[in-house]
Order: sequence, then structure tokens, then C-alpha cells
Amino acid sequence: MRYIEIHVGFDDVDSPSGGCTTHYASLLLAKWVKRGLELIDYPNLTRLNPGVPWKTRGNGSVVIRARVESEDRAKDLFEEALSFIYEYLGAYSEDWKKYSQPAVAMYVGEVEDRIKWFGSKALYDIVPISLLELLLDKVRGRLYYSVPGSGKRGLIGAIAGIGNRMLRGDYTYELVAYRSPDYIGSERKVSKESIIAMDKLYGRDTILNYDYETDRPLIMPHGPDPVLLGIRGEEPDILLKAFSKLDIYEPVPLAVVYRTNQHTDQHLKPINNLKEAYPYRSIKIYAQVSTKPRRILGGHVLFKITDGSDEIDVAAYQPTGGFRDIVEMLEPGDLVEVMGVIRPPSSRHGRTLNLEKIHVVMAKPKIVLENPKCPKCGARMKSMGRNKGFKCPKCGFKSKSATKIKRVVKRSLEPGWYEPPPRAFKHLMKPIKRFGREKEGFPKIYRPGTVVLVEGRSLSIRS
Ligand code: ATP
Repeated sequence: MRYIEIHVGFDDVDSPSGGCTTHYASLLLAKWVKRGLELIDYPNLTRLNPGVPWKTRGNGSVVIRARVESEDRAKDLFEEALSFIYEYLGAYSEDWKKYSQPAVAMYVGEVEDRIKWFGSKALYDIVPISLLELLLDKVRGRLYYSVPGSGKRGLIGAIAGIGNRMLRGDYTYELVAYRSPDYIGSERKVSKESIIAMDKLYGRDTILNYDYETDRPLIMPHGPDPVLLGIRGEEPDILLKAFSKLDIYEPVPLAVVYRTNQHTDQHLKPINNLKEAYPYRSIKIYAQVSTKPRRILGGHVLFKITDGSDEIDVAAYQPTGGFRDIVEMLEPGDLVEVMGVIRPPSSRHGRTLNLEKIHVVMAKPKIVLENPKCPKCGARMKSMGRNKGFKCPKCGFKSKSATKIKRVVKRSLEPGWYEPPPRAFKHLMKPIKRFGREKEGFPKIYRPGTVVLVEGRSLSIRS
């Protein structure tokens, strides 16, 4: 039988008052998988540029990739996804029309390069609606889309998700467990001790479970969204095992395993010139420290970097804790690789890079000038005045030709990578512990095992 690939992307199916795009997509996915939809990948959770100012939380977009036997079946699925958006937003997010511009898009066939390009741009840049319109014009016929609200903004994320196929390069997984509607808004009932125990067992292969410095679990969000918890890590099996170790005292109607670009640093656009550090872009650049870092009111640490022709501010903010102590050890002249989102200039500061991680490439040797030692008795000599030579205070020896001696002082800052504590991590930031563990690719057609768990931990659905 001839199959057709479909890639169904969603974004902005939420509002500040409730709902979550991943929750909407997971409910839809559960229905589809139950009816036997043949997935060709895990559902993808793509985090897009964290610098986008109008994101609700983590700028996430979800894509379900599957194969179907006919274009008619594809169209039916698209219609179903659309009508479910109205149903979902009606139930979870009454005021969505005021705040959100939800979107569903379905690409039929193998994802084309234009869409891939659009997707990779949305990882680090601000994509204007005009570029979206240009793209829509070019892919007419192969892309179905609908925007139930007042604008097309959500379509940027929905299509960018489709374009980030994640077939080449690195990726991770996240198991997200959702709450029963009656529990949304109440305190999450997951035992802290069981999270610590899970972290002790599976911490090597999972990411950001617990912040031991502040004694706080990191797997649970705060606030009234439908997500109970998310466990992130290297392989789906580990996540399922880690999940089964948790003591949860509330119903878990649904959990889904996503394949995702979280913790891969994929959002960092390498640039060579600070002129390309546009506001709201996510970048990384090699540069030289040009001012001594200083701690300002509020506890933020600021310094400047230069590429020789331009200069911008770099900030390590108060929540990054001990990371700021490392940053404070920098000296002008040090060579660093810095990365993060560019904040636009304001009346109080210039363009500022919000520092996510730092690579100290070279800590410039610190040279101090010292008075020479007495050649007769070895005591440290004293200057007799500018250009007048030195005198030994111990034996009285004088020398007009003696000069100050240069001494290289060992810097306490070693070259290497430094990162903030786990609690200050954002979705895309790659922890240093993942260095060297990056994955190299994913099969084009892959039939995942368990992707959806219904009713607590019982695995009832397979593709
Ligand atoms: P949730 O996690 O609940 O889905 P969110 O933090 O992902 O919330 P959204 O409500 O999805 O935030 O809002 C992000 C909006 O920004 C979407 O409309 C999305 O299409 C749009 N967007 C995403 N990436 C870009 C980009 N690079 N340029 C311009 N717009 C973008």
C-alpha cells in the first residue's frame, strides 16, 4: 500500500488563564493512537526562540507525524484537530480570543527544505508575519492550515515545529504527565522524597530533576496549567522507569513521551560579529572581555565584551546564583565564548546578552610588577624614587640599574565551561553533563513503542 506522510503542527493553544498546547496535542494524540493512527515518530516538542517576547511560557510547539493511506483521511484528521481546538479552548481557556492566536497546520508529504529553513530560523530569530505570508504562498497545496482566532501568529510556531524535523543532530526526550481537570490549580501531589530517590537512580540519564542547593524539585511547573510533571532525559525507556519510581497522590489520566530539542543548545546561532547580535536573537560568539565585571543593585553581574569593532553588555542575573561568582572573576582581555538571548537596549542599558553559559577560552595571564630582590642578602629592595634605582632596607645595598621584575600570577579562573545552577536552566539550554552525549540523528520513518500512557502508569496504547 502507498502511504502519505502527514505532519500536523500546533501552537498557541492556550492563554495565560489556562490550557497548554502540549496538553491539547496529547489529548488529540491519545484519541488518534487509540484509533490506530500509525505514527512515524514520537510526537515532537520543539522549543523555539526563547527571546520571543510574546511567548506565554516556554515557546513550545507540538507536531504529530504519522502516515495515512489517503489524502482524504489526512483532511479528516486536519478537520478533527481544528474542531478539537475550539472544544479544548472552550473548556480550558475561556479568554483565549483576547490573548491567543492558536493555529493548526498540516503538511502533506516529506517536509520540504523551505519549511525546514523556516523552522531553523524560528529557533534563534524573530520571524515576521510577512515572512510567514511569503512561505504560505510558496507551499500552497501541500500545507493545510487554520487560525481560529484573530491572527496568524500561532502559525509561525506550528509550521516551525513541522520544519524542525530533528532527523540530523541532537535531541532528547521528555515524558510529560498531565493532571485531571478537577485538580488543575491545586498543589501538585508528588512526593519530594520519591523525586530525590528517582534522581539518585536515574540522574545520569535524566536532566534537571532536583535542585539540591535550594532543596526544590524541578520536574513540576508552578501555577494553574494542566502539566503535573515532566521528566527529561536521554532515552524513552529510562523516562518510563523513572516515572514509575515516583509516588504520585493524584490521578494521572494521561502521560506522553515527546522527542524534543530541549537541552541541545539548538537555539544558539553562531555569529562572528557583534553587529549581528540583534535584539531578541539567541546567539553565541567568541569575544574578548573589555571591562571588569561589576555587581549592581539586585545582585546582577554585568561586564562588556568586544569583537574589536563593537561592544555589548553581558549580564548574569541574580537567579543564576554562584554562576555570578565565576563571572566576576573575569578580567579585561580574557577570551570567552558567550551565549544567550539579546535584550534590546533601553534608556538605562545598551544591548545586553542574557548569559546562559560561558566558555572561558583563555584567562589572560595576570602580570604584576615587583621590586627586585637584593643581590647581596636576598631581601626585597625599596624604590629610591622614580628612575633613581633601588635600595635594600636590610643590608643597605644600592643599585641605580635595578628595575622592577615582572611576575606572572596564577589566575583563580581556569579555562573551561561554566553554567548556572539547575534551577536557572531554561528549556533549550544544554547542561555541561550532556557534552559528548549528543545524538547524531533519527530514522526518517520510525514506529515508536510506548508514547501514550493512560490512567496512571498502565501502558495501554502502542502504535
Ligand atoms: P505554551 O508553552 O503553553 O504553548 P508558549 O510559551 O509556547 O506557551 P505560545 O502561547 O505558544 O507560548 O506563544 C508563542 C507565540 O510565538 C506563538 O504564537 C508562536 O507561533 C510565536 N513564535 C514562536 N517562535 C517565533 C519566532 N521565532 N518568531 C516569531 N514568533 C514566534
